[in-house]
This record gives sequence, C-alpha cells and structure tokens, in this order.
Amino acid sequence: MEQKKNLVTLGSTGITVEKNSFGALPIQRISKEAAIGLLRKAYAAGVTFYDTARYYTDSEEKVGAAFEGMRDKIYIATKTGATTAEGFWKELHTSLEKLKTDYIDIYQFHNPAFCPKPGDGTGLYEAMLEAKEKGMIRHIGITNHRLNVAHEAIESGLYETLQFPFCYLATDKDLELVQDCKKAGMGFIAMKALSGGLINNSAAAYAYLAQFDNVLPIWGVQRESELDEFLSYIDNPPALTPELQAVIDRDREELQGEFCRGCGYCMPCPAGIEINNCARMSLMIRRAPSAAQLTDEMQAKMRKIEECLHCGRCKSKCPYGLDTPALLEKNYKDYCEILAGKAY
Ligand code: SF4
Ligand code: SF4
Repeated sequence: MEQKKNLVTLGSTGITVEKNSFGALPIQRISKEAAIGLLRKAYAAGVTFYDTARYYTDSEEKVGAAFEGMRDKIYIATKTGATTAEGFWKELHTSLEKLKTDYIDIYQFHNPAFCPKPGDGTGLYEAMLEAKEKGMIRHIGITNHRLNVAHEAIESGLYETLQFPFCYLATDKDLELVQDCKKAGMGFIAMKALSGGLINNSAAAYAYLAQFDNVLPIWGVQRESELDEFLSYIDNPPALTPELQAVIDRDREELQGEFCRGCGYCMPCPAGIEINNCARMSLMIRRAPSAAQLTDEMQAKMRKIEECLHCGRCKSKCPYGLDTPALLEKNYKDYCEILAGKAY
C-alpha cells in the first residue's frame, strides 16, 4: 500500500521533498564506505534532498560517490564560503567535480557576514547569477546564523531559500523568520534541528518542526541508528503529544538563556581553544553520553581554557551575542569539579 508522505515544498524553487532530509556535515567523520552506505540507505527509504558544503572537507566527494549515475533522482544543495568572484568560480568547479555532476540544485552562500547583493563590490551575487544563467546552478540560496543578515536576504528578494538554525528552542525572532520566508515565497531549510547534539529526543524535534509546512529539516546523521530513527518517521511521523510537549517544555526550561550552540563561528582561537566544544561542556556532559567528554584528550582540550588570552575575538564573532570567555571559564570550573568527584 502506498504510504502517505509528509512533503515540503521549498518556496518558489518548486523542489518538493520528504520532510526528513539529509544534512551531510557529520559524514565527514566516518569512512567513505560507511558514508555511502548511509546515503544510499536514506535514498532507498525515500530521502531525496542532501545538503552539503565545500567547507565540509570530503562530504561532497562522498555524496558524489553515493549517487553517481542517479543524479536526476535526487536534489543536491551545497555551499560556497568564497569572498571573491574568483574564489566563487573555483569553489563551484570543485564542488561540481567532487559531486560528479554538472549542476547544483541549490547553491548557497555559506554564512556570509553580510548579505551579498548586485553592485556591492564583491562580484559574488553577479557570479551566482551568471552560474544560474549557465545552468551550473538552479536556485540561489543563503545560509546564516545572524538574524540581521537573514532578514536582509528575505527583504532583498534575491534569494530562493534561507538556511538558518531552527529547533524547538527557537525564539520569537526565529519564528518570525520562518513566517517572513513563507510570505516571501522562500524555502526555509532548518539546520541544527537537534541544536548540535543538545536535543536528545528526535521525536520531539520532529514533532515540533512538523507544525511548520514550509520548513525542511536537514538532519545531520553520522550513525546508522540515528538515520534509522529519522527514517522511521517517514511512515510514522511523531505527533506533538502531551508527552513530547512536556519534553520540549523541560528542555526549554533547562536550555533557556545563554548557551553555546557549538556552531564554531567564533573560531579559530589564537590560544588554540576548541571553543565550540568547550563552551558547552556542562550541557554536553549531562545531556549526551558523558564518557566521551571525560577522555584524556577532552581533558587536555578543557585545560587549554587556562591559556585564554582574553582577547575578545570570539565574543565579537559569536552570532548569539555570548560572552564566550566567561562561558568558557564557567564550563571549565564545572568540569574541574566533576573531575574532582562532583555529582552531575
Ligand atoms: S578570548 Fe580567549 S577563547 Fe576567545 S578567542 Fe581570545 S583567547 Fe580564544
Ligand atoms: S560561543 Fe558562540 S560562536 Fe562560538 S561556538 Fe558557541 S555559539 Fe558558536
């Protein structure tokens, strides 16, 4: 019997796909063979949208290897972090080669600090348009972590999709973006729907996002068990039951206020501190399997916090306006206490 599908259309692109889509950032961390296995398993279950980036080391290559010869069956979104037109063309050619294709469905500017527009002097948007005219890309998108850039992109009318962090910890401002995209006929691609590992109930995450018919979550999966969870939602989508709502309410309570999302946009750190992991250690150690956070390697990374130069570079770059050095110190203090035997 034909199963009922939960489909999402990405605004004016006309791209209509299963609500469960594939975020290909974590497959950087597994072997090529394992990555191909995951990607093909997702496809066999009905997932047809794959989001990667030039910046995700060998992710594009793995996607290309998994889907060679079946390009017309899937949609590929990738991203460029180029800051010049010359860099743009170089990255686009590399992406096409790695992905083993001659076109990209959605080509996105990768978290630029400003909203590229024609005539802004960078030549970036002009290059996008030219690539579209040449058929090398089909739709123009942008990804961001900054509300002001996201709003500017929506208002500009220049973009067909916005990719932005969106999960059940969203603020009213994030919700406004989703509504504004809908009004503007733009697709909304939700990244970090599990908030970089802090949300550990995927059914609650799915049920929350299912309320928004214009939002396409791209679940970042690395393990087969994680993929299986999301694939099971294709035929049995979790509904927002009172039990799942209670999970969401509890997490909102616990994770409200200032917490590090692990995005890494404050890096690199001149003292070599792995900020994106260290500044949210207190949460990770309590919400994810703690053994991985207590290894010798992780302890050495946490000790690096002692070498913070208080230069403020991280703080000035954090899109969430966090006082990153203070957050690092707070997490380090808690970590040292846990190592000394404090219950957690
Ligand atoms: S303030 Fe500390 S953590 Fe932040 S960038 Fe400077 S040295 Fe690194
Ligand atoms: S401190 Fe801010 S920029 Fe750095 S990883 Fe955390 S949320 Fe991202």
